[in-house]
Amino acid sequence: MALRRALSAAGGRWARRLCSAARGDTVFAVSSGHGKCGVAVIRASGPGCRAALQSLTGRRELPPARVLALRRIRDPATAEPLDRGLVAWFPGPGSFTGEDCCELHVHGGPAVVSGVLQALGRLPGLRPAEPGEFARRAFHHGKLDLTAAEGLADLIQAETEAQRRQALRQMEGELGRLYQRWSETLTQALAHLEAYIDFSEDDNVEEEVLSRVAATVRALEREVGAHLRDGRRGELLRGGVRVVIAGPPNVGKSSLLNLLARRPAAIVSPVAGTTRDVVELALDVGGYPAVLSDTAGLRATADPVEREGVSRARERLQHADLVLAVLDASAVPAEPGGLAAALGAVLPPATDPPKPCVLVLNKADLLRGGGGALRAACARGGLPPAALLSCTTGAGLAGLLELLRRQLERLCGDPRAGGPSLTQSRHGHHLRACLGALRRCRPAAPAADLALAAEELRQARRHLGRITGHVGAEDVLDVIFRDFCVGK
Ligand code: GDP
Repeated sequence: MALRRALSAAGGRWARRLCSAARGDTVFAVSSGHGKCGVAVIRASGPGCRAALQSLTGRRELPPARVLALRRIRDPATAEPLDRGLVAWFPGPGSFTGEDCCELHVHGGPAVVSGVLQALGRLPGLRPAEPGEFARRAFHHGKLDLTAAEGLADLIQAETEAQRRQALRQMEGELGRLYQRWSETLTQALAHLEAYIDFSEDDNVEEEVLSRVAATVRALEREVGAHLRDGRRGELLRGGVRVVIAGPPNVGKSSLLNLLARRPAAIVSPVAGTTRDVVELALDVGGYPAVLSDTAGLRATADPVEREGVSRARERLQHADLVLAVLDASAVPAEPGGLAAALGAVLPPATDPPKPCVLVLNKADLLRGGGGALRAACARGGLPPAALLSCTTGAGLAGLLELLRRQLERLCGDPRAGGPSLTQSRHGHHLRACLGALRRCRPAAPAADLALAAEELRQARRHLGRITGHVGAEDVLDVIFRDFCVGK
């Protein structure tokens, strides 16, 4: 009985969700973005697509499935031609949403687009789509799991190459397949455990079933633990690495921000204490996303406004993923101990693991002898990777960017290599809960409560199911699909 329950649980719930998701209406929206453009794509999904396409093209026969056809598009109410464009017919269930779908590729002028949208809106059973409704329908018809839908949203938002690679892997289902595999392992372990509970007394079920289940659970525990310990790589890549520029006043922090931004984003002045608020900008460093902040120079001051700036700078430093510690190359001692002391005054108190840092020795143009002594001091070890730079001349910028890119790659990982990364705190939350349940599940321990162990396995599987949307994830659907725009 318990065995049958375990085996049918996942499939049954999923099938019920599909049935309840079946909706009678047909939705449409511009999928290609807004504003004047050469071609606009209007997409529709639902049972009314066939009739809509027939009405707008004035022909009974539809183009062959998934093949573009040139058609005159008319307003069915007035027979007035609206445009000549390409139309495509995607019969369900082999479409993106799993329903009958069609696309109209029309000229992207506002009057053409609004004419076609109005004509569609007047057809019976058709209405404009809500944000994310196409992806949501795809989810309800089992075309995407939640992780793939999140990957699709990230792909639309991706601004750098590395973000695109990670999002594409997730959209293609790599993360979902990993969690699905773990879930199947758990289902099997649960089935064995329940078989033991149900039949061990009358049938000859072997004792080692319990140790095999325990070994499976321990192995999964290690795998989930390692996936959780990836240093937030996926999340950092998705949201951008927080890089904080810190240092004493007047060393060139704002100049560095402007140099990296290639525009005067922050005020540069010879007067110490000019930067009081945090200035922030997004940057693409070799394909990796960084959110760069310039902060007030760190010094003791009586000025209450500057003091507030310094306190904000320290707070940013606490939460930084990477620190760009800037010192004045012409004012620091050219020996490792002195450099370490100057750096120590900038960095936040020691963290575990230590906060990643790049040392920027600015104003290198003021050094006599090309900075050989400083370079040698930096190379002697014990200091973070360092770059000599002149914000005034730009010398050393390429070296600093390469250092920065390597640090970002270390933090975010290479999205082309290795297993898929955990990309959302939502996943982390459920994975930690899943891990907790796995740790509590000890079916082979002496005098183990097997019913309790089985319940822990069910808990663990439920948490995995909530990540992919296969188990009661209704409450997060609105949050996830709200992040899409209309037409996606
Ligand atoms: P912050 O207070 O650390 O943000 O420093 P700023 O960027 O405002 O620069 C302070 C002063 O140092 C300004 O007068 C800049 O023109 C000057 N400065 C910045 N970078 C360099 C550099 O590489 N070489 C020289 N010689 N002066 C620089």
